[in-house]
Amino acid sequence: MTCAFQPSEFMSATPETLGLAMLQRDPHAWRLDGATQQAAVHDALADGSRTAQALRARFAGLAPQQIACELGVPIELSDDDPMVGSLWRFAEYTPRPARIRLFGRGLAPLDRAMAGTLAQQALGGATLQDVFVAHELFHHAETTRTEPPVARRYRPTLFRIGRWHWRTGIAALAEIAAGAFAQTLLDLPCHPGVLDLVAMNAISSHSHRTRA
Ligand SMILES: [Zn+2]
Repeated sequence: MTCAFQPSEFMSATPETLGLAMLQRDPHAWRLDGATQQAAVHDALADGSRTAQALRARFAGLAPQQIACELGVPIELSDDDPMVGSLWRFAEYTPRPARIRLFGRGLAPLDRAMAGTLAQQALGGATLQDVFVAHELFHHAETTRTEPPVARRYRPTLFRIGRWHWRTGIAALAEIAAGAFAQTLLDLPCHPGVLDLVAMNAISSHSHRTRA
């Protein structure tokens, strides 16, 4: 498969545009009408930024890794295969016990692809590890607060029988919020959703090379 986009074109996209693109890749997003999709993206971005501002006020001047340490969330560097099913993993958060894992082999192709001006455009002075630890810190913040999770604030109906409704959450909204959190915490030039686009190119060429 080839990707016909240039990631550098997306660096100037607004968080709203990138967030909407992320939402529309969610398998349940089509169940929300256009105005509700825009409202959901706006809410998710605002939640991520607000949560980062609160944490930044609490831990002024600390890097995400140091904030994780202060919050008692260990960070492990894993050498595991980053691919699980069709999912390529860069990092993950598990709540009990709280832990962040960074997948070294998952991050490597993205790290190589982010050389030169692309890194400066997307990350400013931050590193990929900063961004992914910050992203996972949002998931930690979400699990340790009382508000309903971002992914469950918009719950379209899957199907109905009589008065009974079966509803679903929208997982992409938590990812949009986590990106906004990382962008605000690290003062990134753009929403880190742009890294997904860089990664798609990098990983598809990486897997072609390793299969060759
Ligand atoms: Zn996430």
